[in-house]
Amino acid sequence: MGSGQVTSSVPSGPSEFQGKHVTVAGLGVSGLPAAKALHARGAIVTAVNDGDDARAREQAAELEALGITVRLGDTGSISGSAAGTLPEGTELIVTAPGWQPGKPLFRAAEEAGVPVWGDVELAWRLRGPDAAPWLAVTGTNGKTTTVQMLASILKAAGLRTAAVGNIGVSLLDTVLGDEKYDVLAVELSSYQLHWAPSLRAYSGAVLNLAPDHLDWHGSMDAYAADKGRIYEGNKVACVYNVADPRTEDLVRQADVEEGCRAVGFTLQAPAVSQLGVVDGILVDRAFVENRQQNAQELAEVSDVDPPAPHNIANALAAAALARSFGLPAQAVRDGLRAFKPDAHRIAHVADIDDVAYVDDSKATNTHAAQASLAAYEPIVWIAGGLAKGAEFDELVADSAKRLRGVVLIGADRALIREALARHAPEVPVVDLDRTDTGAMLQAVTEAKRLARPGDTVLLAPACASMDMFTNYNQRGDAFAAAVRELGA
Ligand code: ADP
Repeated sequence: MGSGQVTSSVPSGPSEFQGKHVTVAGLGVSGLPAAKALHARGAIVTAVNDGDDARAREQAAELEALGITVRLGDTGSISGSAAGTLPEGTELIVTAPGWQPGKPLFRAAEEAGVPVWGDVELAWRLRGPDAAPWLAVTGTNGKTTTVQMLASILKAAGLRTAAVGNIGVSLLDTVLGDEKYDVLAVELSSYQLHWAPSLRAYSGAVLNLAPDHLDWHGSMDAYAADKGRIYEGNKVACVYNVADPRTEDLVRQADVEEGCRAVGFTLQAPAVSQLGVVDGILVDRAFVENRQQNAQELAEVSDVDPPAPHNIANALAAAALARSFGLPAQAVRDGLRAFKPDAHRIAHVADIDDVAYVDDSKATNTHAAQASLAAYEPIVWIAGGLAKGAEFDELVADSAKRLRGVVLIGADRALIREALARHAPEVPVVDLDRTDTGAMLQAVTEAKRLARPGDTVLLAPACASMDMFTNYNQRGDAFAAAVRELGA
C-alpha cells in the first residue's frame, strides 16, 4: 500500500469514533457532511478551512450550532495562523479530496503519526455491514461516461444501483442514506484515491493514463500510483486497458484477493481473459465457460452512443465490470442501448449543408481531444482556451492528416498555432484574437467557411474554458447556440 496512513489505533467502525478527536480539513461539499456524520457518532470534531468567506462562515455557523469547533483561516501558511497547524489532540484528519498532500497540516500529521482520510475513505469506513459492493472506475478520461454506462447496465439487470462518487453524488450521503442498493457504480478521482488507503472495491478499472493534475501529485509515477489504488484488494476483476500498458502494470503491482483476475479490454479481437471487438460486435472472452475456445457476444458497436473508438472502450470497461458482477449479456446490451451520454461529450448538435457539428466541449485536455479527433475525418477543429501547462505537439502530429482546417480561440491558442506550424503547416488556421461573448459565433462562422460537404466541425478544445467561459458547459452551449444561429 505504501501510504502508511492506516494504523491499528484508528477507529474503523461507526461506534469507535466515540470520544475521538477528529479534524475535518476543508468545509464545503464533502467537509460539512463529514463533520456532521462524525459528530453524530460521538467524535470530538474540529473543522478547519482555508478561506473565511461568507459561505465558509455560514457553514461554520451551522457546525458551531451543533457544538463543533471551527477554525477559519489560511491552512496553507507555514505559521498556520488559524488552521495550518494540527489542532491539539488530533487523532485523525478527514480531508476534502482536493487538498494537496504537501500542505503543512499534512506534514504535521505525518510527523505526529496521525492518519489522513479523504471523503471516500470515510464513506468506505462508515458503510454498514450489509453495504452494497462497489464497482469502481478511474482513469484520466471517460470516468463519468463509463460509470453511467455501468449503472445503466446494472439497472437493465433489475439491480438497485446508482452512479456515485466523483460524478457529483456524495458517497458519504449514499452510504449513510436510507435507500438500499445491491451494488454501486463508483467514479473515483486520483485525489480521492490518494486519500482512500483502505478502500477495497469488488472490481476496479483504470480506463487510461495520461499526464494530468501532475502539480497536485508531484509526478506521473505518483499520479499513476494513486490511480492504481483502485485495484487494491479487488475481489473478482482488475479491469485494465490493453492499449495502455501502464494500466496493466498497475494491476501487477496491486495486492488483490485470491482468485481475482486481470481482465483487459481492447478495440481489437480479444485474447483470453479480455473483452474486445470482432466484426462490429462487443465480445467477452473473460467471463465465459471454457474461455480458451468460447466467446460471448454482448452487444453491437452500434448499440453504443456515440460509437466513437474511445467510447467503445468505455463500453467494454463498463461491460467488464458488470460481467465481473455476474450480469448476463442481455443486460449489457439493454443497458448500453438505454445509455445516453451527458451533454457536451461528443454531442451531435446539427447537420448544416451536409456538415456535422459536434460539441465535445468536455474535451478539456489533450488526451480527451485526441480521442474525439480520432473519431472523425475530415475535421474542422475548433480548439483553444487555457492550456494548463499542456503541450500540443503529439496531439497535432497525430491528427494532422484528418484536419481540413483549424479555428483557434482563447488565451493559450498560440501554443496550438505553433504546434500546427511544426506538424501541419499546410492546414489553414484561423486565429481569433477576441474573447468576448461573440467570439464563439465568429469561430463557428469561420469553421463553416472552411468545411466542405461530408466534414465534421468539432469543438474539442483540448483546453479548459475559464478564460472565456464559466465552465465547459457554457462553452458547449455557446457553440450549440452559434451553430443553430448559422443553421437558421
Ligand atoms: P471524465 O469523467 O474522466 O472527465 P467523461 O466521461 O466526462 O470523463 O469524458 C470527458 C471527455 O473525455 C469526453 O468529452 C471525451 O472527449 C473524452 N473521453 C471520454 N472517454 C475517453 C476515453 N476512454 N479515452 C480518451 N478520452 C475520452
